[in-house]
Amino acid sequence: MTNVDRKQKAKLPPQVVPMRSAEERIHDFEQIKLGFDEQAAITEASRCLFCPKQACVVACPLDNDIPTAMKLIGEGKFIDAAAVYQDTSTLAEVCSRVCPQDNLCEGACVLGKRGQAVALGALERFVTDYARVHGAPPERPASTGKKVAVVGAGPAGLSVAQRLLEKGHAVTLYEAWPWAGGWLTYAIPTYKLPRDVVNDKITFLERLGAEFVYNTRVGKDVPLQKLRDDYDAVFIGVGAMLDAQVRFEGKDLPGVYTGTGFLLPIYVPEDRRPPDMNPPKVGKSVAVFGGGDTAMDCVRTAVRLQVQQGWEPNVTLIYRRTDEEMPASHKERKAAMEEGVEFVYLAAPLAFKPGPDGHIREIIIQRMELGEPDDSGRRRPVPIEGSEYIHEADTAVLALGYWPDPLIGEQEPGLETHNWGLIKVDEATGETNLPGVFSGGDAARGPALVSKAARDGIVAAETIHQYLAEVVKA
Ligand SMILES: Cc1cc2nc3c(=O)[nH]c(=O)nc-3n(C[C@H](O)[C@H](O)[C@H](O)COP(=O)(O)OP(=O)(O)OC[C@H]3O[C@@H](n4cnc5c(N)ncnc54)[C@H](O)[C@@H]3O)c2cc1C
Repeated sequence: MTNVDRKQKAKLPPQVVPMRSAEERIHDFEQIKLGFDEQAAITEASRCLFCPKQACVVACPLDNDIPTAMKLIGEGKFIDAAAVYQDTSTLAEVCSRVCPQDNLCEGACVLGKRGQAVALGALERFVTDYARVHGAPPERPASTGKKVAVVGAGPAGLSVAQRLLEKGHAVTLYEAWPWAGGWLTYAIPTYKLPRDVVNDKITFLERLGAEFVYNTRVGKDVPLQKLRDDYDAVFIGVGAMLDAQVRFEGKDLPGVYTGTGFLLPIYVPEDRRPPDMNPPKVGKSVAVFGGGDTAMDCVRTAVRLQVQQGWEPNVTLIYRRTDEEMPASHKERKAAMEEGVEFVYLAAPLAFKPGPDGHIREIIIQRMELGEPDDSGRRRPVPIEGSEYIHEADTAVLALGYWPDPLIGEQEPGLETHNWGLIKVDEATGETNLPGVFSGGDAARGPALVSKAARDGIVAAETIHQYLAEVVKA
């Protein structure tokens, strides 16, 4: 739809992103958003006002050139539009599905101030899916003879690998688990991110020449120093995958799970599960503690597991602050509420108590009130003395955040870390204090977003490319 002026644009109806109803979708783990067809995509992209501030680009962690993509989609040039995203993003087909667009590009769209923002996420997904089907396969560039080891095959590792492979460097990815993708493969629910999208990316990288070495934990199975000796450069993208440690009484009772312990066995295909990973047994009454996107994934997963047992959903999300401070994206909260999840604010667990069978039966909860802001700028939850009450539940999930794995830092004491094991990097370059060693993603910044990890990988690849040219002689 070309040559549409601003007045005509204002009259274009926002296109509804087709979505499965809550009643239907809670019966399975299949994708919820169904995606635009070509005509809807063209009409929706034509709503873009091309405002001079380009607030959507500023809000995008990857600086995607969204206005140019909108123009091309409006003209029906889907492959060209996909190329615009791929220019700045290595994981556009993933980010379009999992980014909290309501807090990023769509949240910044001027049309959203007076009505409905352009459906930027759905449009990015439409063209990148189109390119996955209709685009040309990647071609391997001529080899530079330089080789790089990537530790961890999550979004950061996959991104740095892609950009280095595109420049002709050989890349070997060392991955602790039996398959690549990091949280994309192991934790993010399939109703948000179908695994064929991730698998296609891995196949794409293999075609570009990536070599994957699975079931290999660097720091334990291979020392970091060996990789430094064998390769011209090393990128560390090991994420922040350890569940936050808690000291609540009864936290180890049967029926009490961590966020990871609950989600991973559900979403990892059996043949790709580490051997010690067993699926959780969901009960008829589930309580999930936390306020981030992982907590939303846990409540929505619990609803589906209950429905599959033939039960009515009975899942409560318990958060120690209020709706206002909650970090989970608004669209995730809304979806959880539509699916029947009850939200309880200003409450936190004190102890988990067993029934006669030894399995969790009750949770002692304490009410909170908000005090002064803490380091995060959010008001601190303060316990109210004497406000304890009992919440009956036969399953509890503690989705209280993630920490970095200190293994590599401990094993390589020369590598500077901070904040309980995060790797210290120059954010503008991805350089660590060790020559030839680079890092990014959650391993360096702490638990964040796929788009930020992808961005870190892209930035580090640029620095590594320069390093290989200037420091490492052929
Ligand atoms: C449940 C859940 C839901 C989320 N939902 C969203 C969402 O909707 N949107 C969003 O943007 N973000 C989401 N995130 C956050 C996002 O997934 C992460 O920010 C992102 O995956 C970080 O990428 P990464 O590559 O740094 O690390 P990871 O994805 O953590 O990958 C690290 C990889 O390194 C491997 N590894 C670790 N140690 C070693 C070692 N010593 N040797 C070799 N390999 C190693 C791991 O096995 C893993 O494959 C979610 C996270 C979780 C846990």
